[in-house]
Amino acid sequence: MSRQDAEDMLRTIAAECRYTGGITGVTAIRPQVLEAMERVPREQFVPNFYKAMAYNNMPLPIGHGQTISQPFIVALMTELLDPGKDDVILEVGTGCGYQAAILALLVKQVYSIEIVPALAGVAAERLRKLDFSNVAVRRGDGYAGWQEHAPFDGIIVTAAAAHVPPALKEQLKPGGRLVIPIGLPAMTQELMVLEKDKRGKISSRDVLSVAFVPLTGGSGMPRTADDSVEPE
Ligand code: SAH
Repeated sequence: MSRQDAEDMLRTIAAECRYTGGITGVTAIRPQVLEAMERVPREQFVPNFYKAMAYNNMPLPIGHGQTISQPFIVALMTELLDPGKDDVILEVGTGCGYQAAILALLVKQVYSIEIVPALAGVAAERLRKLDFSNVAVRRGDGYAGWQEHAPFDGIIVTAAAAHVPPALKEQLKPGGRLVIPIGLPAMTQELMVLEKDKRGKISSRDVLSVAFVPLTGGSGMPRTADDSVEPE
C-alpha cells in the first residue's frame, strides 16, 4: 500500500460524509476511526486480482458471492457503533475480516461470526497473521448471536436482515448500540441504529439507504429476491 492510497481513501470518506451528513446525521468520522482505517492494510483483505483497487471507495468481491463493504460504509457503520476502548463488540458477517480488523484497533475485544466456513477460516488465519489478537472468529449462524460472550457493548451486522434478529436485541447491553441493514435482498435496504437505554427499552432510527448481501441461515432470508418466489 502506498500511504497516498490510504490518504486518498480517507479524503473520499470525508467528502462522502459531508454529502450525506444531512441524511445520516454523521457529518464527520472521529479521528480514531480514520486512524484505524489508515493503519489497516486493506489490500491484504482482498483477492490478488483486486489489490490495485483496494483503496477505491467501492465494495469488492471476496469470493463465495460475498463482498467487502465500501470504505465509506465501513467508516459510517463504525462511527454509528460509537466504539469505546473497553468495549466488547459482536460482528455478524466476518467476510474477509476487514471490519473486524478496524474494530480491533478501537475496542478491547471483537467476536465475529461468519456462516460460510471457507471465509471464516481464511479471515481467522489472516487476522492471526496480521497480529489482530483481540478478534475471535467463529463459523456459524449469527442470527442467534454468540450467547457465551454476551452481553455486548455494541453489535454490528454486515449483511442485510429482513428483521432485527431477536437474539441480537437480547445480547445487547443497556446503553449499547446495534447497527444493522434491514430490508430485502436485491433491493436497497435501510441502515438502522438501535439503542438500548439503561432500562432496556430499545429505540431505533433509519440512517441511510444501503445495498448489502443478505443474511442467510436461520433468519429465513432468501439468498436473492428470486429465491423467495414460491415454486409453482
Ligand atoms: N464485514 C465484512 C463484510 C462481509 S459481507 C467485511 O469486512 O469483509 C457479509 C458477510 O456476512 C458474508 O461473508 C456472508 O457470508 C456473511 N453472512 C451472511 N449471513 C450470515 C449469518 N446468518 N451469520 C453469519 N454470517 C453471515
